[in-house]
Amino acid sequence: MATLARFAAWIARLDAVYAEQKDYLTDLDAAIGDADHGINMARGFAAAHQAIVAAPPADVGALLKAVAMTLIRTVGGASGPLYGTFFLRAAPVAGAVAEVDAAGVEALFAAGAAGIAERGKAVVGDKTMIDAWGPAVEALGASRAAGGAVADMLAAAAAAAAAGRDATLPLVARKGRASYLGERSRGHIDPGAASTALLLAAAHETLG
Ligand SMILES: [Mg+2]
Repeated sequence: MATLARFAAWIARLDAVYAEQKDYLTDLDAAIGDADHGINMARGFAAAHQAIVAAPPADVGALLKAVAMTLIRTVGGASGPLYGTFFLRAAPVAGAVAEVDAAGVEALFAAGAAGIAERGKAVVGDKTMIDAWGPAVEALGASRAAGGAVADMLAAAAAAAAAGRDATLPLVARKGRASYLGERSRGHIDPGAASTALLLAAAHETLG
């Protein structure tokens, strides 16, 4: 079971991870974007962490909603609305509960990722964060179907997201700012896929 305390630990971990990985994400974005992804993610999750510490949400749905609203308000560029959409769509799927079971974890991640795909109008292979989200959600479902517990599911999702991130390296971008570069976007990891892989690795470390 993924408890409210574990969801709070996930957001605290994301605050630390994006602070640590700020330069890495900014360097990736500098190669094919506008060099702001690291600072945006660090700022957004610092604010989200601060928000849930200042006013601890009463249930998992409320926590996800608070994170969504904070990200949408504080993160610039495309990534704020996209990650905000993930948490906003996941919130009502989780609902006003103190803990989420394996089916609920699969459902909330699937709903959140579907929201990102819809909002970004991207599919796997476009060289966006969806290249990490798509395989991660598939892996979650496959793991649960095979009888996996939340920890197993998130381990599979984190591994799939990392593989999806690495698979963006040879691709030519078809969506987002990197698509303006055409062939020159080849040979670089997509920064959004990289931040998504970090988000799922942190979920594995904290939620299961
Ligand atoms: Mg950027």
